[in-house]
Amino acid sequence: MSEIAKQAVVLVSGGLDSATTLAIARRAGFACHALSFDYGQRHRFELEAARAVSAALGAVDHRVVTLDLTAAGGFGHSALTDRIDVPKAGPGAGIPVTYVPARNTIFLSIALGYAEVVGAFDIFIGVNAVDYSGYPDCRPAFIAAFERLANLATAAAVEDKGRFTIHAPLIDLTKGQIIRTGLSLGVDYSLTHSCYDPSADGASCGQCDSCRLRRAGFEQAGVRDPVRYR
Ligand code: ZN
Repeated sequence: MSEIAKQAVVLVSGGLDSATTLAIARRAGFACHALSFDYGQRHRFELEAARAVSAALGAVDHRVVTLDLTAAGGFGHSALTDRIDVPKAGPGAGIPVTYVPARNTIFLSIALGYAEVVGAFDIFIGVNAVDYSGYPDCRPAFIAAFERLANLATAAAVEDKGRFTIHAPLIDLTKGQIIRTGLSLGVDYSLTHSCYDPSADGASCGQCDSCRLRRAGFEQAGVRDPVRYR
């Protein structure tokens, strides 16, 4: 009897962390349903990267859910979705203005609903609490709390069809370790996109927090970053 692959939902933003997470889920044998969000982010370029990464790493499908989290849509309040300058001077104190209100809770909630629909009990998210910007929804306590919620909130869990696991395989890794892991799993980082404020043709700024973390990670890993900087 052939074994049927377990299904997983993987949040794929198009950045290097989520690409690595997808590669880890694939290596673990999961049939992966990639999920991305068009939430009005100014770096919409990453959605094209998410599509390319999902195809290259063999996701069974890739779905883009549209949510208007922009100021025009009544949300905003973030440098990623509003007319607020993306900081370029390096990390400051406190939670940066690139924080999108409750973003990972929103994304994981939709991933949970989608998981119930496709019959998955495993959800992968590429959050990292080492080389990160200090967002509260990237911390281990948040992931553990969301996993508890998932097992209280769904018919699939309450009817004992399975137990949800929120996998955050990068949470304790440095950026350099993430990149080395991905390279060992065959991730093509030239397909990924990290910049919060790319130019119209998709070149990365090299100065925003996300670019800085990425560049430092490639330096730590001792390999050249294949993305284009302006
Ligand atoms: Zn940048």
